[in-house]
Amino acid sequence: MLSVDQDQLRFVEDDSVTVSLEFPWETDSGYHCTRCGEDIVETASGYETESGEATCSPDGDEPTAHVPERAPLSWVNSATIDADEVDDSVTVSISVGDPRGAFCFTVRRVPDDAGGDLAGRLVLHVPHPGESSPHRKLTMLHPGAFVVG
Ligand SMILES: [Zn+2]
Repeated sequence: MLSVDQDQLRFVEDDSVTVSLEFPWETDSGYHCTRCGEDIVETASGYETESGEATCSPDGDEPTAHVPERAPLSWVNSATIDADEVDDSVTVSISVGDPRGAFCFTVRRVPDDAGGDLAGRLVLHVPHPGESSPHRKLTMLHPGAFVVG
């Protein structure tokens, strides 16, 4: 069953399914003004709207500089859930840097016929510092938490 905000959208017959959320932000605009609400970008001389306005006066007051606030979720490119019947795994991917890549969190069942102590067990794979080709550099804050970048 595919659900969005608790609304059941449709039954999914195939057990292998990929669901993606894309966030098509403008690459440079990560801020908005808390007074006028306009999307603004950081420039060498301060914050400006796309049309180059460096000030605003939403209440008709003397124009002053925009008040920048980071736009919520402006750091995310995409979020994907991939349930793979062939791989017997579910992967959640979150892209916060290069949109061609993502942090991948996978739970996979080791095949029963794999032999050894892990046969039939679930294994969780997570991004970690020291990966050969990381999506973004990670620094451990404490076990289970990492600073990105
Ligand atoms: Zn403003």
